[in-house]
Amino acid sequence: MSATATTQVFPTFAEVYQGFAGQIGMLREMAPTPTKSDDQRLQGAVDTLIEETNAGEAVWLESCIHCGQCTSACHYFQALGDAKYAPMRKMDLYRRVYRREISPLRWLHRLVTKAVELADFEDAVPLIYDSCSECGRCTMVCPMGIDTASLVHHMRSAMVAAELVPPELAALRMEQLHQGTVFGSSPEALKNMVDTIRERAGVDIPLDKESAEVMVLSSAVDLVANGNGLLATARIMNHISVDWTICSDGFESANFGLLSGDMSLWKKQSDPIVAAAKRVKAKTLVIAECGHAYPALRWNPMLRSGALPFEMMYMSEFLGKQAQAGKLRLKPMEGKVTFHDPCKTGRRGGAFDEPRSVLKAMNADLVEMPNHKEYNWCCGGGAGIFLLADATELRDESFKIKIREVDETGADSVVVSCASCRLNFESGRQKNHWDKRVESLVELTAAHLIDDDVAVAPAAGAAS
Ligand code: SF4
Ligand code: SF4
Repeated sequence: MSATATTQVFPTFAEVYQGFAGQIGMLREMAPTPTKSDDQRLQGAVDTLIEETNAGEAVWLESCIHCGQCTSACHYFQALGDAKYAPMRKMDLYRRVYRREISPLRWLHRLVTKAVELADFEDAVPLIYDSCSECGRCTMVCPMGIDTASLVHHMRSAMVAAELVPPELAALRMEQLHQGTVFGSSPEALKNMVDTIRERAGVDIPLDKESAEVMVLSSAVDLVANGNGLLATARIMNHISVDWTICSDGFESANFGLLSGDMSLWKKQSDPIVAAAKRVKAKTLVIAECGHAYPALRWNPMLRSGALPFEMMYMSEFLGKQAQAGKLRLKPMEGKVTFHDPCKTGRRGGAFDEPRSVLKAMNADLVEMPNHKEYNWCCGGGAGIFLLADATELRDESFKIKIREVDETGADSVVVSCASCRLNFESGRQKNHWDKRVESLVELTAAHLIDDDVAVAPAAGAAS
């Protein structure tokens, strides 16, 4: 049975995408304008890089041998064939700052290199935001093990200080800074969605329980646009009879601190989630299908996550562990399927086997793409790039790699477990009149539950 064959409770994901794309278009007008002088912005950017450069960053900046192996590993270079998109080029400005300000030979570099200007940071914006999804694929082939994605993240941090964050991310950063959430979502929107799910689908969501073994996060996209995501999550949690809750003071997976490069917002946005999980005495925190939300919490250097009294799991990991424990009773799924590993939870998170365990529990005819798991190609929309109008060509052209990879499997559908990947796939599917179904792992799982006769809406944007 396909997820698309079930009764519709909320709009299809194809409709969700259409509405969401309209909202994104308005973000540019909502972006803040710079408030500091050019000198302050430049100094702020340089100071940020000095502050964030530790031994690891210094080694990476020193050790590039310009061998060029990373170049063809990057989907943005592959997309346009322009050498400026080579991963090693994305470190150039950081290296210049490092050499002039921090390196042991800075006295020499100051004599022989040009001082860094604000215009250099302006010129670097397309490299730091539009053409690096921080996917980590280039690191897989780098003989020196240089983590370009991490260096790009530090550059994003500098861009915040330079007030050069692209307008879409800047607008959402400001919304999250002031409202605590994004896209107009709120605790009231969560309560409304919980009530709507109960009324339309007859599924109860234990909102704001005093204590629970499992605390689940949602996301703004699920609350304001895609009710199917939270509905599917609730159906699975109820199916496995776990003691769970969702908290109205810590539900938002999305973190525009991480995406923009704003370290203090990254922490500020994570704190209420951690506080809520501690308060309800959760043993497990399940992070919704929102790829960047996983590193935002799991790898947040300011949280000391290893010392927290609960375990963090991405949704696909949680589902996989339930499948491996035999707790998910699933009907077999029809058709050939392939799985897209989200960069942040796969290559940079290690969750490869768990989502495949869920598909196996559905007896799925899984065919892997030529490049999968650690070598999976990014879909092109990660790290906030899906939202950036200036990145449209890079994003659309790089998605063609994904189309080729999926087509080569002969699969009827591709399963994703990240809302950002899913939006980007849906965009690519519609723009290219692609005949594949794009399914969310959590919605697909809910649509195949046995002994659960509550109908659920389609999990995917059905092929048109
Ligand atoms: S593969 Fe590594 S060492 Fe070679 S150019 Fe790229 S970053 Fe530098
Ligand atoms: S991290 Fe990914 S997107 Fe960024 S330079 Fe490397 S391969 Fe390209």
